[in-house]
Amino acid sequence: MKYINNWINGLEVKPESNLYLNKYNPHNNEIISLFANSQKEDVIASISAAQNSYYEWKKLTPIKRGELLFRIVDLMKSNFDSLIKCFATETGKSLNDATGELNGAIRVGEFFASEGMRLYGKTMTSSVYNKQSMTLREPRGVAALIVPANTPIANICWKVFPALVCGNTVVLKSSEDAPEIALEFAKLTKQAGIPDGVLNVIHGTGLNAGQPLIENDKIKTISFTGSTIVGKIIANTVSKRLARLSLELGGKNPFVVCNDADINNAVNWASLSAFSNAGQRCAAASRFIVFEDIYETFVNQFIEKAKKLKLGIDNNSDLGPLISKKQQTYIKNLVDKTIFEGGRLLCGGNIPIDEELAKGNYFYPTLIDNVPLDSEISNTELFGPVAIIYSVKNLEEALTISNNTIYGLTSSIHTKDINKAMFFSKNVIAGVANVNMGTFGSEPHMPFGGFGESGNGSREPGTEALDVYSELKNVSILLNDLSI
Ligand code: NAD
Repeated sequence: MKYINNWINGLEVKPESNLYLNKYNPHNNEIISLFANSQKEDVIASISAAQNSYYEWKKLTPIKRGELLFRIVDLMKSNFDSLIKCFATETGKSLNDATGELNGAIRVGEFFASEGMRLYGKTMTSSVYNKQSMTLREPRGVAALIVPANTPIANICWKVFPALVCGNTVVLKSSEDAPEIALEFAKLTKQAGIPDGVLNVIHGTGLNAGQPLIENDKIKTISFTGSTIVGKIIANTVSKRLARLSLELGGKNPFVVCNDADINNAVNWASLSAFSNAGQRCAAASRFIVFEDIYETFVNQFIEKAKKLKLGIDNNSDLGPLISKKQQTYIKNLVDKTIFEGGRLLCGGNIPIDEELAKGNYFYPTLIDNVPLDSEISNTELFGPVAIIYSVKNLEEALTISNNTIYGLTSSIHTKDINKAMFFSKNVIAGVANVNMGTFGSEPHMPFGGFGESGNGSREPGTEALDVYSELKNVSILLNDLSI
């Protein structure tokens, strides 16, 4: 059996308790590895390693740090096949999907490695004669980076690269659903020449490994991607010591289809937005809001498309399994409850029963309409391949329903009218508004984050992420007057 250990001070380290947890393959529920069930003492060891390496790492010029980060990127490229195999197995993705994800992660790495050549501050005018003022960026110390499993290598790179280029050292808490890729990534950082202790990885549960990490007052910055409920627990804990917190949380993202939309284009994007990665995307569209005069046409085409999607892990598949049995059961129960309460099941709604898929955590792409706005399914992020559809009279109603959520992460509108598109984009309560495309997130150089309970106002990646991981210092110099 494969053991996935912590990575502390440049070495694989067993958990002090010698306790391990099972990691199951989502495709067939076979155990693929045993990973460290870290406890407080392991977390403390990882924080000490990060602290001890901080001053040396901070002393390197940003350009030098960027060069070392570029070496990690090179190693991600030369180890491409083994990396995609690793996290495709852990998450139940096809190798094609894993390829797309790793390419995205590499681009994030390249973007932030290049930031070593910039890390810009600004110069400012002053009301005081001969005073020169500028801002400098300084690192903040040890950063705790906590990630989920849905796109594990992308999530890791999204946080590790900006944290390191800014001069922080890191304790990365891997997802209990994808621990091995975090360890493999850490090994590459050592090969790349990142000094021991600068990047440490802790595996385990949120309660036993995550909680002692965020509670530790040596942690100065916490960047968390995960559910809103856990985000709130973390915010509560760390606000007491005023640690900096960046939260990237859940979504219940609206996808509006107006009566002048290109229906084929809308259906294609609708399917990708709701069902790619088995709906396990914070940016997934889970509420479709469709003008009543094209409702039937759009919905019929969407059902037809959803029914054709192939489940599995080969490269011809459209969506893989859910990450865990627990998640599959949760989704099945909520879908059953919705139908029991009067929701109309348009397609899916079930766990496959054929021999191959029944072993895994699969769930058929599911569409439901006739659900009230105040129902549980209208207001809960399922994080699975399930979407609901509402019929609306006009743009005003579409916008009201779009904004009828505690979340505010991504959104999309399909229309040929630029006025409607811009009106929606300006008025929708969301960090991302897309026109005639899916509810997809950002690119490495674009800020991503949510309004409402989808976050706490921070934006990662983009240069905005540098503000999460650095402190701005305003330096002023009063020069002698040498006027001649
Ligand atoms: P989760 O909140 O259950 O767990 C995320 C991570 O937090 C895991 O590593 C977990 O071990 C850790 N954790 C749990 N409890 C903790 C605690 N008390 N203290 C510290 N760490 C703790 O989320 P999940 O189910 O793994 O992921 C799905 C969620 O992530 C969805 O809500 C999804 O929308 C969200 N997500 C958001 C974004 C974004 O950028 N906004 C991106 C991807 C996923």
